[in-house]
Amino acid sequence: RLTHVSCDTFRVICDAAEVESKIKEAHDKIRSSSTQGVLEIKAGVYVQRVENENIERCFMRARLAEATTKGVYDEYFAVYADEMGARERLKMYLIAHIDEAVKNEYIKVYYQPVVDINTNKLCGFEALARWDDPEHGFLPPLDFVGILEDAHLIQKLDLFVLKKICEKYREETNLGHKCVTISFNLSRLDFKLSDIYKELTRLTKEYNVPHEMIHIEITESVLDGDEDGYIHEQVARFQKDGYEVWMDDFGSGFSSLNVLKDYDFDFLKIDMMFLRNFTEKSKVIIRAMVEMAKLLHIGTLSEGVETKEHLDFLKEIGCDRVQGYYYSKPLPYDEVMA
Ligand code: C2E
Ligand code: CA
Ligand code: CA
Repeated sequence: RLTHVSCDTFRVICDAAEVESKIKEAHDKIRSSSTQGVLEIKAGVYVQRVENENIERCFMRARLAEATTKGVYDEYFAVYADEMGARERLKMYLIAHIDEAVKNEYIKVYYQPVVDINTNKLCGFEALARWDDPEHGFLPPLDFVGILEDAHLIQKLDLFVLKKICEKYREETNLGHKCVTISFNLSRLDFKLSDIYKELTRLTKEYNVPHEMIHIEITESVLDGDEDGYIHEQVARFQKDGYEVWMDDFGSGFSSLNVLKDYDFDFLKIDMMFLRNFTEKSKVIIRAMVEMAKLLHIGTLSEGVETKEHLDFLKEIGCDRVQGYYYSKPLPYDEVMA
């Protein structure tokens, strides 16, 4: 039995035994009949587990399975598995609870030290978010940043992190403690979903934080597809106001060299993948990146430094700063200071 649900969505009830071959048949037929570009179908399958199972739930699960094929080339069907449901439930939960997590401070800011390679002294921190949820436990950013981005809610997290680091600076300074600079991460969508420039200006004013204490980390994906030059304009505005702007995960994307030409970054954070696979080849690449950055008058920071061997190499080639487990993983402020 077949029904048309809406637009390009259909529901089929059939015998489980032949479902895979039927989908393949439909897929191949549609693909070979498309004249312009490639027309694809994507299908999700749920195999009924009990007699008279709630039909809406069956279709919901088929849809969950189908969603896992999105954006995966050549994967045109998937069969529902229980973990797909768990992932989807967590996603719904996080989307529904971000306001509460901010309000009740389930979102925590962890700080990872940045060390000056020449003096071997602490010279900054990177602020990294954690979600310590009363129901779902302690979640790393990998579990929620992408979900919040997809749901267009990431600005709530990032503005909260920004507020917390400004607050921390004020608190420590009022206690007469010396502070080091703090960098924080911005997503591409922060520029679209909030007036991030205005918020940053407001928060640094409210907490009386000198602009040079705050560094903004952006990845090159933030800069992708900036046809109207809006993000370029914002970046220039940050720098004009005295905030440093750092290029994060340098070397991991598709257009790294291009963005160096078009922007005046203050620092390059060399992607940690070059150290994870620490071969002679990756050493040549890191060395060349550091040399190039020097000629462009951009500072260099190597991320993911885990061993003395990494550190010695980076010192030898003239990298300016390092960050990684060799010194410390990201920790709550008091712990990292201790
Ligand atoms: P990132 O900005 O590249 O952050 C560095 C990540 O590498 C952190 O993971 C850090 O814990 C990890 N790391 C640091 N040193 C080492 C090392 O020596 N070895 C290894 N193997 N890993 C190391 P984390 O905290 O899980 O963050 C993952 C990503 O989530 C970040 O990557 C960043 O893209 C994103 N993220 C974290 N906090 C925020 C936030 O507040 N806002 C936004 N938009 N994104 C965030
Ligand atoms: Ca970062
Ligand atoms: Ca990074």
